[in-house]
Amino acid sequence: MTVGEWVRGQVDAWRTTPRTILDTAGRSAPNPAYATAARAASSALRTLAGHLGIPLDEVGPCVTCHAYHHRYGTGGRPLCQACHAAALDRVRRRYRRAA
Ligand SMILES: [Zn+2]
Repeated sequence: MTVGEWVRGQVDAWRTTPRTILDTAGRSAPNPAYATAARAASSALRTLAGHLGIPLDEVGPCVTCHAYHHRYGTGGRPLCQACHAAALDRVRRRYRRAA
């Protein structure tokens, strides 16, 4: 698992955790797990930004596999390194066939 895939898991866990829960009386109450998951996702994103040496707002998900990587700003790409390499490989194979 890459760091980007780990961050994707943390963010997915946060986005799929319900914001509120029902108590025994049926009243809606804030879900403590939501705050925990939000903190974990935020810290994961900050860890990745530090790992890549880029500002936090340049981190974003890959359009193909949704792993987090350097997406925005100078040197940012829509595809992560693995998907970019796979896409280049497909293009090269297509070019070889056509030539
Ligand atoms: Zn990717």
